[in-house]
Amino acid sequence: MDIDMKKNWKKSLIILVLLPFFSWMDAKTIQEVVSQPLDTIEYRVFVAADKAGVEHWGGIEAYRIKLDSFFQQVNDFWNKAGDGRFKYYFRYVPDLQVVYDCSSLHVESVYNRSEGFPNHDVLLIIDSILDFDDEESAQGWYCGGGAGDLNIVVCRSRSKTEYEDLFGIDYFYRGIAHEFGHYRGVTDLYADKIEAKNNPINHLQYDPASCVMNNHFDTYKWSSYAVNIINYTAKSKRPSRDFPGFFKQMFPENIQVSVNVNGKRKKGVKLNLYGSRAWFNDLIATPYRTYETDKRGEYLITGVPDLYDQPVPPLHTDELPYNRWFTFLLEAEYKGEKKYVWLPEYEVQQTFFENKDTYQVKIDF
Ligand SMILES: [Zn+2]
Repeated sequence: MDIDMKKNWKKSLIILVLLPFFSWMDAKTIQEVVSQPLDTIEYRVFVAADKAGVEHWGGIEAYRIKLDSFFQQVNDFWNKAGDGRFKYYFRYVPDLQVVYDCSSLHVESVYNRSEGFPNHDVLLIIDSILDFDDEESAQGWYCGGGAGDLNIVVCRSRSKTEYEDLFGIDYFYRGIAHEFGHYRGVTDLYADKIEAKNNPINHLQYDPASCVMNNHFDTYKWSSYAVNIINYTAKSKRPSRDFPGFFKQMFPENIQVSVNVNGKRKKGVKLNLYGSRAWFNDLIATPYRTYETDKRGEYLITGVPDLYDQPVPPLHTDELPYNRWFTFLLEAEYKGEKKYVWLPEYEVQQTFFENKDTYQVKIDF
């Protein structure tokens, strides 16, 4: 018993000595965080909501309160999903301006042609039920561009009978974040996906990076690609106006492929570039381009922006959604053995944020 007490006494002494040290550390860390708060950037959202929906949720005042707390969720999620990588605190401020009693397609087409909205940065049309005939043809959510490079996010219901509960279903605040992600300049990452069954080359599935822009149903983070873009365009209230052609600019000029065989650079290795399509999530079986490594065991693919975006025919397919290849599969062939590298657009475009003009690919046999 005596010995135990002694041991405990010693332990207590150690804890007493260590405690002040740790509290001092904590205080220092907290101080650093407090002394460097992020600047807040606000985007003012012009909201137009359908009369049927507003009435369903208790009238204008009740609706406004719901909308405010919904946007708190959106903002909270948006920033937390940055996981410390955002340079700013972002805040979307909803402003219920219009309650319309007509087809939301009509509202959309009017806004599409309207210049102005000087006090707002982005438009949001909410239509909670398909109660006008033409609405069914454009059900679902999307982000489009209107006059004056103003982005319009449309959240249109998918039902004629049930109100789409923006405020009650968990993944909707992430869905809005996804659409505003488009407003900030980020594309859909799910378009880069390739299904194994639609891949006649190496029969593997390609899954794009985990991101709200890939899947908002069960994803709680932004990919580094999305974070880079959101930081880059942060200060612009209308990125489509201030960064014209931004998507294409993000591509590097070149992709440099280097091939080693047993640790030595190899000449004459055949390289095939296969293109993938959005919607179909497939690969076209005929290579879009074929190259061969030079005597340094390298090949410099040039004109990369035009390989992905509006590629020159022949495409070896009748239909190319968005007129873009989304993911290239690069195949290297040496003496019958084949190696593969995925080249999704968003990955290759990351070169832009490294201030480089060449994306490097190394292949080892
Ligand atoms: Zn999308």
